[in-house]
Amino acid sequence: MGTIKQSVATFGVNRALKYLSKDPEKNIPKVMEMVDQFCPDDLFVAQRYAFRHAIETKNNWYQLLLHGVRDIDPGVRDNFFSSFLVNANLIGWPEQERNREKYGCNIPWAILLDPTNACNVHSTGCWAAEYGNRLDLTGDDIESIIRQGEALGCYFYIYTGGEPLVRKHDLMDICAAHPEATFMSFTNGTLIDEAFCQDMLRVKNFVPVLSVEGSAETTDARRGTGTYARVTHAMELLREHRLIFGISACVTRENESTIASEAYFQQMIDWGALFCWFFMFMPVGVDAAPELVPTPEQREHQIRFVREMRSKMPLFTMDFWGDSEYVGGCIAGGRRYLHINAAGDVDPCVFAHYSNANIHTSTLLEALQSPLFMAYHDNQPFNDNLMRPCPIIDNPPKLAEMVKASGAHSTDLQAPEDAGDLCAKCAPISLAWKPVSEGLWDSFQRASAEARAKRDAELAGKAAADDVDEVEDRTAASA
Ligand code: SF4
Repeated sequence: MGTIKQSVATFGVNRALKYLSKDPEKNIPKVMEMVDQFCPDDLFVAQRYAFRHAIETKNNWYQLLLHGVRDIDPGVRDNFFSSFLVNANLIGWPEQERNREKYGCNIPWAILLDPTNACNVHSTGCWAAEYGNRLDLTGDDIESIIRQGEALGCYFYIYTGGEPLVRKHDLMDICAAHPEATFMSFTNGTLIDEAFCQDMLRVKNFVPVLSVEGSAETTDARRGTGTYARVTHAMELLREHRLIFGISACVTRENESTIASEAYFQQMIDWGALFCWFFMFMPVGVDAAPELVPTPEQREHQIRFVREMRSKMPLFTMDFWGDSEYVGGCIAGGRRYLHINAAGDVDPCVFAHYSNANIHTSTLLEALQSPLFMAYHDNQPFNDNLMRPCPIIDNPPKLAEMVKASGAHSTDLQAPEDAGDLCAKCAPISLAWKPVSEGLWDSFQRASAEARAKRDAELAGKAAADDVDEVEDRTAASA
């Protein structure tokens, strides 16, 4: 990380945080002005515009911002600003872009890694394939991944599994050793207790994301009887300790109507979650049931519903497929993220268990330049219709073609699945989605063009008003 830039940004953030602690409501606009000063003009334009709009109109996003500033533990909140907002985004993103040019390959914004494949709960259709007997990444493995990731500009690490909190003490040591990075962890929540909350308050840079599939019935059906009660208890603890946490929801054909409902969004807010990640059930793995994948109508409903809720609910939401329009399509293969399993295999995506590289024998950069990752790099986006972003479920021959051409092998150690078989299973799903996705893409493109035109006109108006102010100031000064 450029040290001068880092110190200037850190200085700015510290100043901003002092303002925030004093009087959040009055000083949020000042903090936004500071972010604008540090951020290059062409970086995160839409996001910064959305924040400014939220502050001006005091809409649902503003309520969320205020909640984050007022109700989160100050140490945790301040670390989140510096490690996530500044390091992972304002500083990390441009560094990733530079390295992308320099090395001619994708460079990730986030690295997902499985500290272990062990789990204390068995979930139907869990995205982590069952990798045989227990495997762990060692502390040195994880340390090396972070060191190499930071050298490329990556300051955001997300634990998957298995159940990462099976190794919660090791994970706290890693957080303490890397206060400059943000660590997020998907978890079933059942291992979160008072002592662990105290640990999270100590290290300040660990954000749990609890898996909840809608109601008690749907969660327990997927994750085992009693899981829902344990997860809701974990959320009570997290809220009491003023910790940042989110929810992840796997949308299936059975629970879509529960998850895509206003009542469920309100429930997540009442639990104290600041954000939710939606994933669609993927038929990955030899035993995975394609009939659990949401129907095209459900998928469309889910995407539209999440967007509708964004205009009224104080909850930050990300829809792994539905938001691909905002990130230019598939983000795997290191384009924005990659996945390292507990055996050290470097997969392009948590759902694509194929690889030519292992961190025990390759550097992270070599993995990014390996044949399968370069195939992702060279073929992205996989479809001009960004509502069909995925080489697995939306454009199934693509995954099989890339795996074959690159000579990648299956990294599912228990039951390797041939990429051709997986793609054959996804072919009818993709065919059914195609016509629905086309209507959706047309309507989203029209809506985006209108929103862009409105934003550009407002920004142009603001720039003109600023110019007039400047001339008036100069005239007054010289009078
Ligand atoms: S491979 Fe599919 S699931 Fe993975 S990031 Fe790309 S679009 Fe998403």
